[in-house]
Formats: sequence, C-alpha cells, structure tokens
Amino acid sequence: MNSSDWEKELEKVAREISAENFSAILSAEDLERLRIRFLGRKGSLTELLRSIKDLSIEERKLLAPKAQKIKSQLESQIAARIEEIEKLRFEKDINSQSLDLTLPPLSPLRGRFHPLTQMQNQMAHILGLMGFSWAEGPLIEDDEHNFTALNIPEHHSARDMLDTFYVEGSKVMRTHTSPVQIRAMRQKKPPFRIISPGRVFRHEAIDATHSAVFHQVEGLYVDKNVSFADLKGTLEEFLKALFGPEIKVRFRPSYFPFTEPSAEVDLSCLFCSGTGVGKDRHPCGICKKTGFIEILGAGMVHPNVFKAVGYDPEIWSGFAFGIGVERIAMLKWQIKDIRDFYQNDVRFLSQFKDAELPLFA
Ligand SMILES: [Zn+2]
Repeated sequence: MNSSDWEKELEKVAREISAENFSAILSAEDLERLRIRFLGRKGSLTELLRSIKDLSIEERKLLAPKAQKIKSQLESQIAARIEEIEKLRFEKDINSQSLDLTLPPLSPLRGRFHPLTQMQNQMAHILGLMGFSWAEGPLIEDDEHNFTALNIPEHHSARDMLDTFYVEGSKVMRTHTSPVQIRAMRQKKPPFRIISPGRVFRHEAIDATHSAVFHQVEGLYVDKNVSFADLKGTLEEFLKALFGPEIKVRFRPSYFPFTEPSAEVDLSCLFCSGTGVGKDRHPCGICKKTGFIEILGAGMVHPNVFKAVGYDPEIWSGFAFGIGVERIAMLKWQIKDIRDFYQNDVRFLSQFKDAELPLFA
C-alpha cells in the first residue's frame, strides 16, 4: 500500500467511526463489539496501524499522528459511553425497585465486653459473693509499694524474677496488683476482704503464652485467726464456681516473698479430666500426663508485710492470692495464643457472648 492509499483507507475508517451513533448503543456488549471491530486484534484501525511500517519514515511522520488521534478519540468515546451505560443501568435498577417497608431491618453490630473483661467480671462476681470488695490503684507505682512494703527489699533476688519496667527514678510500671493491697491496708482497719483486679506489666518477650501487659485479680483477707484452712476453702469454692463442681484442687508448697507459708495451686486438668490421658488415648500434652495444671499462687500474709503497713502481726493474720486473668481465660475457653486477646480481631472477639455470671454450685 502506498501512502495515498493508506491515507484514503484511514479516512474511510474515520468516516465509519463517525457514522456510528454512540448514543444508540445501549449495552456494554454492543459497545464491546464496536470496539473489537475497530480496535480489536484484527480490527480495521489496528490492522491499518500495523501496516504503517511499510511506509517511508517521512510518510509515517506525517500520517501516524493522524491515525493516533483517530484512535484515541475513539477510545475516549467508548470510555465515555461505558460510563453512561452504567449510569443508565443503575437508574433503571433504582426505578424498577420499589421500597418494601415490611422488610426486617439489618440488625446493627452489637458490642460486647472483651473476653478478658468478662473473665475478670466473673471472677470478681464470685469473690464478691464471698464478701470481697473491689479495690484499685495506680498503674505507675513507687518502689516502696511495688517492692519494699511487700517484703522485697532492694537487692532481693525476687526483683529479678519480676522483670520490671522502670519509668523514672524509683517509679515502676506495677509488676503485680499487690501494691493495691498495701494501699488498702494503710487506709482500712481490719477486718476486711478486698480484690484488686487490673493491668500489670512485665518486661517479657512476647510469645504464645507471654505478654508484657496482662491482667491479675489478687485477693486479700485480713482478720484475727485467719488460717490456711480459710485460704484453702476460699480458693476451692472459688475455682469450683468458675470451672464446675467436679474439678479437683491441689496445693503445693512454694515461695513468695510476701507470704509465708506460700503455695502454688493446681487445678485438675480440664483437657483430660485429671486422668493424664487425652480423649485420643494419648498422654495429655496440656498437663504433661500429671493430671494437674498450675493455676495460681497464694499464701498467708508475711509478718513483715503487716509490719510495713503498721499492723501488729501478733494480732492480725490474713491470706492473699493472685490469679492471672489471661491464664484462666485461656484454660476455660481453650485459647492457645495469648496474643489473640490483644489483636482486636472481631472474628475472635465476637465468639465470646456476654456470659451469665456463675453462681455457687
Ligand atoms: Zn491433662
């Protein structure tokens, strides 16, 4: 094809394009057919543009811009018509639908308490029925309340166990809610029973079972003639109300600076019902075949703690215990990764319907 034939051919295609009545095209399919006719792989304009390589460079310089202009005009006409077709279809849809006022409304997403709040409230509820009242204190504590008054003097090795975040000077992010107990004892006159629920902080590497921020519910009872039997009975009742009357509770001797004697409290394994053998007849991995899971720490208030708050340990006695809210929640709901609590994934959180508060069995 020489250049004048090529130009005639281009004019012919341009005439064909302008003969098209775009506003008469009503469907995206018809518009696509038109596009393919001119701009498809074998479309007339495409083929013409392909054959331009047979012309001389000077001819190409002259004719290529003309052809490109026709091509881009056609493309923008098609794009504009697609938008109009979409709009027309939308209007048609809207007009064809009538408003049905009898349809039930979409129910709005309902918020609920976070599972940790639910667990903390359940624990507080049970302990509340046993006469414990709620006490709170600051998250940033001084050395005196977080350590010294709790029989953890400076250079005591227990300070290392607690992986403390130091804020400034002698201020720390509280490593337990025990400072609330010190504050309560300094404000109140015994006898009294309190729980101190709240957030605590430890310098921990975060993994499936450790978090640098977690929650505790601690309990404290001060009266005359409080015995270890009172502690045992209270915790047994508490754990049975929380986990069901069939569970078994075991006390093992342990060490905490602020209690003497101290105990670790174990619960019969919820996964193998305390048998050490799982449902699949394999040894239970959760309790490592022992049938028991460590669940909390407790003990009789150390005389040095009473002295630090100005109580005479010859007159007053008491017990204290500390429970990790995450630990209990993970056991009760069989949650494997502590980080699930903090990621605010609605798919996880929405599984915890606000629980009925347990009563004593
Ligand atoms: Zn087990």
